[in-house]
Amino acid sequence: MPNVMPRPSILSIEPYVGGESKIPGVNRIIKLSSNEGAFGVPPAAQAAYAELAAKLHRYPDGGATALREAIGTRFGVDPARVVCGNGSDEIIQHLILAYGGEGTELVMSAHGFTMYEVSGRYAGCQIIKAPERNLTADVDAMLAAVGPRTRLMFLANPNNPTGSLLPAAEVTRLRAALREDVLLVLDSAYAEYVTRPDYDPGTALVEAGTNTVMTRTFSKVFGLGGVRLGWCYAPPHVIDVLNRVRGPFNVNAPAMAAGVAALAEPGWVEKSVAHNTAWRAKLSEALRAAGITVHPSEGNFILADFATPARAAAADAALKGRGLIVRAMGAYALPHCLRITIGTAEECGMVADALRDFMRSADAA
Ligand SMILES: *Cc1c(COP(=O)(O)O)cnc(C)c1O
Repeated sequence: MPNVMPRPSILSIEPYVGGESKIPGVNRIIKLSSNEGAFGVPPAAQAAYAELAAKLHRYPDGGATALREAIGTRFGVDPARVVCGNGSDEIIQHLILAYGGEGTELVMSAHGFTMYEVSGRYAGCQIIKAPERNLTADVDAMLAAVGPRTRLMFLANPNNPTGSLLPAAEVTRLRAALREDVLLVLDSAYAEYVTRPDYDPGTALVEAGTNTVMTRTFSKVFGLGGVRLGWCYAPPHVIDVLNRVRGPFNVNAPAMAAGVAALAEPGWVEKSVAHNTAWRAKLSEALRAAGITVHPSEGNFILADFATPARAAAADAALKGRGLIVRAMGAYALPHCLRITIGTAEECGMVADALRDFMRSADAA
């Protein structure tokens, strides 16, 4: 045993495992394991990023002024209530460390995003997972999970990895019934992809009270997962807390430049969302026709249910055999499922073909 030891809760953390990106012996791989946008990086963002190369001796603007202004204009939010982060993961971690900690509880849904648990344990919080209904967060169960020590509740909406969505009325009901001293964090990483009309990413609830935060990211529809860029919209007192605890230069300059440019890329989101909506439906249909259960999704991914962990593993192997990397779901307590990102038309076609052939084969028996 080493003499220096971290706090006990640290060693209870299961390290986050990102989507795989390599298959030994396979040259052309298609990565559909991290919900990255189907169209790559917006051209304007690539140019803005490259232009920063000659200015890297300068510290970035620690206040992220230009980016917050652009976010304010684009999303109709007050830039003074925006804090940017090195990915929304960073903001999630700061919120948990600032409002949680030893002796407190963090409530999330049973199949919620695992980073809440990672950061929660880092902070020393007890993680309470509320049961879901049809792989969808259940407002009553979330409320029932709240105890006197609860300080934080996280809801990804749409949720990753299930793709399920709570309508605005349900989220409003959740906030209204939740104790005032519990911070509700609405993680809207996939907001742009939602097509249901009864949806709100959380902007209205942030503005209506003092205890709700919305997080957003540039990693999905804006195609910038590699630069790490996210933001939150929060009441002024929470913004003040985040500005005290974050690193003074937590977002790097090329990331901010790329983010501003991505927001200005004409038609990017419209094109990406139209593609996603069409191919999410087509791929879901193709898999269902092959005999696979596919859960309804409002994100840029689908959750395919193979009924048993063994069959999901065999399907994963069949996909890998064709160079297709998707996400195994053991870490989400869904070992019988695979999460598949909606890629290009060609990539979706390859997934559909591979899984159709798999379901016809002996491996699927
Ligand atoms: C992808 C994702 C994020 C984004 O994290 P970043 O740190 O901004 O890349 C946040 N929440 C959920 C639920 C996600 O799936």
